[in-house]
Amino acid sequence: MSKLLEEITGDKDFIIDLMYFGTQNMLLQDIYGKVGLGNRCFVRPELKEILENLRKELQKQNLRLKIKDGYRPPKAHELMLKIIPMEGFFARSPERSQHCHGSAIDVILCDEMGKELKFPCNVDGYEKHFAQEIRNGEWAAFRQHLERGKYSWESAQEKEAIANRNLQRAILESVGLKALEHEWWHFNMPDKEHYGMVDFDPTGKNMFYSKNNS
Ligand SMILES: [Zn+2]
Repeated sequence: MSKLLEEITGDKDFIIDLMYFGTQNMLLQDIYGKVGLGNRCFVRPELKEILENLRKELQKQNLRLKIKDGYRPPKAHELMLKIIPMEGFFARSPERSQHCHGSAIDVILCDEMGKELKFPCNVDGYEKHFAQEIRNGEWAAFRQHLERGKYSWESAQEKEAIANRNLQRAILESVGLKALEHEWWHFNMPDKEHYGMVDFDPTGKNMFYSKNNS
């Protein structure tokens, strides 16, 4: 039986730095530590293959790819929804999140030293002060900031950030991944509808299991 998910480990092309591991994220909580995933990036075997094809392109341009999110355990997604119930920020349920299917990644291009290139905002639009405001029920400024996540966002003063955003899209789409118009950091597998939610039990014999096709 083939594995449901496979791990991507950090190397010369990929940097694994999951944002929901540790507290530097919009939730200000170590969600992936809590559910037992840690800083480990898992994806569908087919997505891992796509990422293998990406290596050549990254190397050609002296770039590396930092992965900020991959597979997300459904329990983690539920915790996240509880902390940030803002509509449109997280998928409404784990079943609807491609991260919980292992068929999506959140990424940002880095230079060969591993330093993030300039982009219109951080992945997820993360800024500590916005995370704190949201906790106090103040959404307006963050919602405005999230405009910077869209491919339609343009600024004459930030040409470099926009060029990097568009370069990242071109590179990832060249191997068949699909961009999301309102989140430049998020990419889905081309045939994402094909996959279902994957459950997670860090103590089980099979860490990953599916209720549909086990
Ligand atoms: Zn995402």
